[in-house]
Amino acid sequence: MGDFVNIPEIFGCDVFNEATMRKRLCSEVFNAWKQCIENGTSLPLDVANEIAVAMKQWAIEKGATHYTHWFQPMTGITAEKHDSFITPDGEGNIIMEFSGKELVRGEPDASSFPSGGLRATFEARGYTAWDPTSFAFVRDGSLYIPTCFFSYTGEALDKKTPLLRSIDEVSREATRILRLFGDKKTRRVIPCVGAEQEYFLLPKDLYSQREDLRLTGRTLFGAQPPKGQELDDHYFGTIRNRVSRFMQDLDEQLWRLGVLSKTKHNEAAPCQHELAPIYTAANNACDTNQLMMQVMKKCAAKHNLVCLLHEKPFAGVNGSGKHNNWSLSTDGGKNLFSPGQTPAQNARFLLFLAAFIHGIDEYQDMLRSTIAGAGNDHRLGANEAPPAIVSIFLGDELTAVVESIINSTNYEGPDKGLMRIGVDVLPPIPKDTTDRNRTSPLAFTGNKFEFRMVGSSQSIAGPNIALNTIMAEILARYASELEQAEDFEAALHTLVCRSFTEHQRIIFNGNGYSKEWEKEAARRGLSNLRSTPESLDAYLDPANIDLFKKHGIFTENEFHARYEIHLESYCKHINIEARTSIDMVLHQILPAATAYSAALSSGILSKEAAGLPCKAEKALAKTLSDAADSLYSTCQELQADLETVPADNRMAALYYHSMVLARMETLRQAADILEKYTDKSYWPYPTYSDLLYY
Ligand code: ADP
Ligand code: MG
Repeated sequence: MGDFVNIPEIFGCDVFNEATMRKRLCSEVFNAWKQCIENGTSLPLDVANEIAVAMKQWAIEKGATHYTHWFQPMTGITAEKHDSFITPDGEGNIIMEFSGKELVRGEPDASSFPSGGLRATFEARGYTAWDPTSFAFVRDGSLYIPTCFFSYTGEALDKKTPLLRSIDEVSREATRILRLFGDKKTRRVIPCVGAEQEYFLLPKDLYSQREDLRLTGRTLFGAQPPKGQELDDHYFGTIRNRVSRFMQDLDEQLWRLGVLSKTKHNEAAPCQHELAPIYTAANNACDTNQLMMQVMKKCAAKHNLVCLLHEKPFAGVNGSGKHNNWSLSTDGGKNLFSPGQTPAQNARFLLFLAAFIHGIDEYQDMLRSTIAGAGNDHRLGANEAPPAIVSIFLGDELTAVVESIINSTNYEGPDKGLMRIGVDVLPPIPKDTTDRNRTSPLAFTGNKFEFRMVGSSQSIAGPNIALNTIMAEILARYASELEQAEDFEAALHTLVCRSFTEHQRIIFNGNGYSKEWEKEAARRGLSNLRSTPESLDAYLDPANIDLFKKHGIFTENEFHARYEIHLESYCKHINIEARTSIDMVLHQILPAATAYSAALSSGILSKEAAGLPCKAEKALAKTLSDAADSLYSTCQELQADLETVPADNRMAALYYHSMVLARMETLRQAADILEKYTDKSYWPYPTYSDLLYY
């Protein structure tokens, strides 16, 4: 490395993208593929066959020997099943083969993936189907084909299938609205997403010494490091070089895969970084984010680093999230959340804005539940990341516009006057480039909404499915109302005004971390769902079931299956954490502390025999012994807790939250006291100082 890299030349070079397809396919096949994409129809087999041949040839030239259907099961990460192109030709030789059928359809064994009970009634086989709107790519000698994953009876077992459904829904309803504004050209509206990814980097040798990091992705123990830690400049310097080499390498790998990434150093916590790709269509953004996370991990390993994607690897240190920037764009490239230059454009903007505010308010619990998870619980509401309360930041200017519409009062902006929709030009709405409000979970930033509650390890599919579907639902209602109207402008004004009035409680521009906001939010009737088990109840709400059913995103069965999967995953996570805690206490922490106490005690005995004072040693030994006693008894209580987990999934999740996690916290406190008072040479693993200020 360090070699000159011709970025335009390598960009997307490992992707079978539109430009490559145009070059490699005959024009009929290319056009047929393009038609399918545009009309959302499925690919005829003869077209698939031709694409498969060209794709295989291209992949082989790139060094691929295998192909894999790449899918996004409910584990939240991706899965792949590799098959080789190699086929015996019957005469003892081999040929490299890949048919349209193999491109379009695969049959991985589904039994190892969570199905939430969907699969139990059917067979273990699952099916994968190529998503031709997402490009195939070559990585590590394999041709990766992005696919949907579903059961024998067609029920979605993955995150891509419902995402694609939701993209179609919001497109249809938004287009309906655009027709009302006289737009006859737009054929599709595309949700666009840019997901900024935060992560930590640690040296591999330190990471490997911590069982908690290896098994759970976060530290289960660790006393806070002393403030103002002096850095070891030499070591720091060499590591920093390693980190920048990693970033350079990562960018290059991602560029080859067609990901427009910009890695950045500057995150809040030590060792924390961010990677922001340029936004794309939601489906692609979702694939890309999954790919990015994998490439990051792999690339880190190559540089003797470990990439931590956990939401809260270290207590007391900022966690990691994913900022999901979301907007709607027409196929002509018009951003529907851009305040326009003319009264008509503004009217359209205000309608989309009203729909968003309306939808988020009405379905706040559902949106909150899409980012629920054991890891993210440590972030939300923990005084650093966004709170667990969903609210929307609009900024002062836009809020003033909304208020003047609600109250029919004069807008006290640069152009004073009554704001009448369809007549007036909006005052200029400055883009919130300054990140004035980092505490908001959902901020309007000029022409997009930035949803900041997403956890760093989570798939962005869930939140985007919800955003698309919620938007589709409200736009559908608005379209129905406006299509009936005799006087469109008057009806539009009434509608927008009513929506703002009824849903303004979700708008909040103040400090989201403050205690006052919690009180104020409660007064406004906004939810504050602090834990995963609580927030997953959204899956049981008939209004939410209806929402997804009505738009064909999830059947009731599929929806319920997801609920069970999330509950189960939560329980499993906490269970593993609890068992890892116990293991570390019994095999590392207690032995270290008692060995040190024993050494202290024999020191005390010899000093006393020699007639020397040993008050300090005695006090220290007492502190250690007390903490060790409490650690041991809490550890036994935790073990007992794990033996009485309720059988029902929902009850189990609540139990893990209220009993097990609370006990682990008590356990940690005792362990951290021991860490503080034990001679460092006895301590069995790297401390926070070692890890964070390496
Ligand atoms: P920053 O937050 O660093 O100032 P931006 O606000 O420009 O940078 O962008 C943050 C993220 O939002 C990037 O991933 C960017 O591509 C994405 N983004 C920008 N515009 C849009 C949009 N209209 N829709 C969705 N995502 C967008
Ligand atoms: Mg951001």
